[in-house]
Amino acid sequence: MNKLLLEVENLKTYFPVKAGVFKKTAGYVHAVDDISFKVNEQETFALVGESGCGKSTTGRSILRIIEPTSGKVTFDGVDVLKLSKEEMRKERRNMQLIFQNPYSSLNPRMTVKKLLEEPLKTHFNMSQDEINKQVLWVMDQVGLSRDQLERYPHQFSGGQRQRISIARAIISKPKFIVADEPVSALDVSIQSQILNLLIELQKNLKLTYIFISHDLNIVRHISNSVAVMYLGRMVETGSTEEIFIRPLHPYTQALLSAVPSKDPLQKKKRIILKGDVPSPVNPPVGCAFYARCEKAMDICKEKRPMLENMGGTHQTACHLY
Ligand code: SF4
Repeated sequence: MNKLLLEVENLKTYFPVKAGVFKKTAGYVHAVDDISFKVNEQETFALVGESGCGKSTTGRSILRIIEPTSGKVTFDGVDVLKLSKEEMRKERRNMQLIFQNPYSSLNPRMTVKKLLEEPLKTHFNMSQDEINKQVLWVMDQVGLSRDQLERYPHQFSGGQRQRISIARAIISKPKFIVADEPVSALDVSIQSQILNLLIELQKNLKLTYIFISHDLNIVRHISNSVAVMYLGRMVETGSTEEIFIRPLHPYTQALLSAVPSKDPLQKKKRIILKGDVPSPVNPPVGCAFYARCEKAMDICKEKRPMLENMGGTHQTACHLY
């Protein structure tokens, strides 16, 4: 087994809700609500769930792009949440983010060369010669040609723009990347090219990923382990095989029932989720999935289920088990 690189313990990220003339804090949105997990070096840990379940906030809280409310994040032996702003700025060369939308994440007034030089000038004290070499290296890594360096982002296709975003993320040679829905804004025909590029880069540069996605087909293809999130909490986690072959939580089962089977002869019963996700401002005291669960019992309304071991690395938070 690979060495542990990232450990997240009891992470909470709450946002205040302001109300009234004096903008007093009337409550908190529980965007990430007490989650813990570990990620080993050179592996991919996927965070999945519907939009608004807290997966992007989790990724950004780990990188401290959003400041978490409490918890502990240990990255490569360093207690990240205890770092000063300046120490965190230095650490960020090792911890990068790939954005969902390559259209809005690249400054349209900068050439590719300037976009790629920027992180090196922020994080390192390098000569222009060294910077030039590193820029050429990264263009090769992401499959862009060197004669495109003086072009602007609007002169590229969506897939090429995502290659530029990836190049910006890896140019400082980080160990760890949060990839936040990195292919969901792209045409289906381009998605597999970018996924394959991420897999290749992981191998070549020994990268560790947190891969955020709502697309379970993609997650199955790219990840070693998975956490399913619902209303800011983790409801099931395990190796990709454990989750896809034996999903236990009714929410995971519903998500997976919507994924087309690889075998066209195998018929699946689609579980249609009814009702709405409860408000994250006043999350239910019991199971957050109670109002939508076909198997709900009385206890589910009263008592919050905690993650329990189901064998191997598989854990689920459900009173059925
Ligand atoms: Fe359904 Fe109860 Fe399990 Fe929640 S704890 S998923 S309501 S069975």
